[in-house]
Order: sequence, then C-alpha cells, then structure tokens
Amino acid sequence: AKQAGKNTYHLFDTAQDTAINTQRKSIDNIRTAIQKQEFVLHFQPKVNMRTGEVTGFEALIRWHHPINGIIPPLEFLPIIEGHEVSLRLGEWVIKTALDQIIEWRKVGINLPISVNISAHQLQQDNFTSRLATILGDYSEVEPNCLELEILETSALQDTKQVSSTMSACQELGVKFAIDDFGTGYSSLTYLKRLPAYLIKIDQSFVRDMLEDTDDLAIVEGVVGLAKAFRRTVIAEGVETVAHGEALLKLGCELAQGYGIARPMASVEIPAWVKSWKADDAWLQHNKIN
Ligand code: C2E
Ligand code: MG
Ligand code: MG
Ligand code: MG
Repeated sequence: AKQAGKNTYHLFDTAQDTAINTQRKSIDNIRTAIQKQEFVLHFQPKVNMRTGEVTGFEALIRWHHPINGIIPPLEFLPIIEGHEVSLRLGEWVIKTALDQIIEWRKVGINLPISVNISAHQLQQDNFTSRLATILGDYSEVEPNCLELEILETSALQDTKQVSSTMSACQELGVKFAIDDFGTGYSSLTYLKRLPAYLIKIDQSFVRDMLEDTDDLAIVEGVVGLAKAFRRTVIAEGVETVAHGEALLKLGCELAQGYGIARPMASVEIPAWVKSWKADDAWLQHNKIN
C-alpha cells in the first residue's frame, strides 16, 4: 500500500509538472504569436429581426496558426487566463476592434462593435485607466461605439468590484453587455447592481427553446426580466427562421446566430451588409411594447 501511495504521489507530481510546462509553453507560444500577428478578429453581425436592420458586430478572436490552422478561442484563452499575456491579447482585441470601426466607416458602415472581456481583464486594478488611454488614442471613435461583453459568471465573481468598474467605464461612454445570461444565478438583485444596457440570452436556451418547454420558459423569463429592468435583450444562437419567430413572439427582436450569419473575416462584412435581408416571416411581426 505504501508503495502504491508513493507511486500515486509521484504520478500526480509528474502530471502537475507536465500541466505547468504545457501552460508555460502555451504562454510562450501565444507571446510569439502576438508578435507574429497570427491573431485575427472575426465578426458576427447582430440584427433586428423585426426591422431588418444590422445593429452591430461582435468581435471573436481566432488564432491563425501556421501549422494547426484556425484555432478557436476556447482552445487557447482558458489556458492563458490570469496571465499577463492574456491582458495584452485583450488590449489587442480592443484596439483592433477600434481600428475596424474606423476602416468600416470609410466604406459607409458605421456600427458599434462589441468585444468580449475576461474576468481577469476586468478585475485588473487599472482596467478603467488603460481603457481611457486607448480611447484617448482613438479620439475619432466615440466611446459608445465600443461595447464590452462580460460573462454573467464573471460578473458574479465579485459583483461589487465588477459593478464599480463597469460604472467607471460607463462614465467614459463605453457600454456593457452581460454575456451568456442564464448560465449564472440570473438574480434580480445583482442585475439591479450591474449597469449593463444589454442582456445576451445564452445560446443553449435559445437552441432548445422550440423543443424544450423549460428552455422556452427561461428565454421568456429573461426577456421579461430585461423588460422589467429596462435593459435591451438579444438572443444568441439563432440558427433557424423558426427560432427567430419564437423570439419575436416573446418580444425579443435582436438576434445573433448562424441562421443570420456566421462570424466572418472583416473583408467579408461589407458585401454581407449590402446583401442581407431579414426573413419575410420576421418582417411581418409587429412591434411588441
Ligand atoms: P460568446 O461571446 O458567447 O460568443 C458566441 C460564440 O458562439 C462564438 O463562438 C460564436 O461563433 C458562436 N455562435 C454564434 N452563433 C452561433 C449559433 O447560431 N450556433 C452555435 N452553435 N454557435 C454560435 P467562438 O467564436 O468560438 O467563441 C467562443 C467564446 O470564446 C465566446 O463566447 C467568448 O466567450 C470567448 N471569446 C471569443 N473571442 C474572445 C476575445 O476576444 N476575448 C475573450 N476574453 N473571450 C473571447
Ligand atoms: Mg460574447
Ligand atoms: Mg455568449
Ligand atoms: Mg459563450
């Protein structure tokens, strides 16, 4: 038994060692990848299904790895979360989004971009002042063209600190969205405290709302909550016309999802904006409220 215990201990030690080495290697790789400009932002349109307008874009990071191809964010962001390099990458995302706003304006597209912000990023002591500096460097872009998405689960980590940082950033003119809403506690009290103008209903509820009455109830509940608190609400993961119709019936007009557009490279956006038309069934809906 002693022998086994020793072995187990040794094994555990080695596994941990490997994990640390893997993480260290990943961090080095990402540092190099930033230098080599291997990261790109893709953009997913946000639309109003009832009016047919395009209302903005969400920036989603991808790693164009020279050997492994396109690596999605959830394969590298969690590994570097909490490290200095993730903060640098986070700032790169904000700056690149602001660059993109300027570029699109040249071709007549004048719409806000939202970027995802990690918990660690938002909880940096100097997050607000760093953001102010960036916005100062981009004085031609109005701060309300930049939206920051924070996960409901991140906002829950330290609601007091998070809400005060959000308020400070809001004073700069930046707007906030709560992402993946419904995956945390979704409590009334903390929604009251978080100064976010937009609530994004998590795609898992939207995906199953046509078959699962519980998920339909959750979507309906979140829409009602948003209305009660005078927040705007958007559905993520709208994959079909039927999903959009069900959402419109509940009074949710804003949507994002593969049924509207997949995230695209920035060069594809102008042509998409020109050609996109909301589904006729969606355009038939009358305004609720
Ligand atoms: P998210 O912010 O909730 O973004 C939505 C994710 O769902 C994106 O995946 C998007 O491509 C995908 N999606 C959009 N519409 C549909 C749909 O109709 N069906 C399905 N099945 N999926 C859809 P992606 O790009 O892989 O990003 C995953 C997550 O990674 C994001 O979730 C966000 O939390 C995080 N992320 C992405 N970019 C960044 C970034 O620059 N910074 C930080 N901190 N996190 C990021
Ligand atoms: Mg998001
Ligand atoms: Mg989301
Ligand atoms: Mg998500």
